[in-house]
Amino acid sequence: SLELTQKWEKLGVVGRLAAGIAHEVRNPLTSVKGFVQLLGEGEANPFAGIILDELSRIELIMDEFLMLAKPHQETEMRDYDLNEVLHEVTQLLKAEAHMHGSRIRFRKTKNPVWVNCEAKQIKQVIINFVKNAIEAMPDGGTVRVKLISGNPTVKVQVSDEGVGIPADRLHRLGEPFYSNKEKGTGLGLMTSYKIIENHGGTIRFSSVEGEGTMAEIELPCSILANN
Ligand code: ADP
Ligand code: MG
Repeated sequence: SLELTQKWEKLGVVGRLAAGIAHEVRNPLTSVKGFVQLLGEGEANPFAGIILDELSRIELIMDEFLMLAKPHQETEMRDYDLNEVLHEVTQLLKAEAHMHGSRIRFRKTKNPVWVNCEAKQIKQVIINFVKNAIEAMPDGGTVRVKLISGNPTVKVQVSDEGVGIPADRLHRLGEPFYSNKEKGTGLGLMTSYKIIENHGGTIRFSSVEGEGTMAEIELPCSILANN
């Protein structure tokens, strides 16, 4: 949408510069982390654990931010059956959900759902949404990932039974650094919006406070699609 394009445009030249810096800082960061790990945690080095935690946090911020820089570089758009993409990513996140007392549900559709996309990036978006869903359910619950085939667009819905989002805050989703979490970056949704926009798609949120949230991604189906 126009509004989200503007949110990204606001980042503009400075944002692209920041992405360049993030990229350059990542290598020495990885090396420092490696050396701290060599020092070993525990009694001998009581602060090593804290240093590693803080370094990991910097790394997370860099990685979420760097997802933005990639679309302009090597893109690898191909036709993928979203069933396979969603299956892989939900399998990957099962352990994460389990650790938070939650579970993920996804069932493949009968027929393939072809979308021309960069699978790695679509996976990243689904990971962001599922993680947000898990984090919205402090007492656990079910995250449902649903694929709806169609022509000219297909839909992926990620819904949770979490705390929900107040109506007057919905419009802030996707804004850089907008986060309500103590350890949040507020970059997950911004990168997700940008990736889906690059694929010619849209994202919509609907939410009921205290009941849950649904994020819906709409993507153009592949020209070669047979659904
Ligand atoms: P982060 O997860 O680091 O806070 P995000 O960009 O992923 O950053 O999300 C921004 C904010 O949007 C979150 O802090 C949260 O307040 C809100 N949000 C996103 N998804 C959900 C959800 N499923 N349920 C409730 N709130 C959500
Ligand atoms: Mg997040």
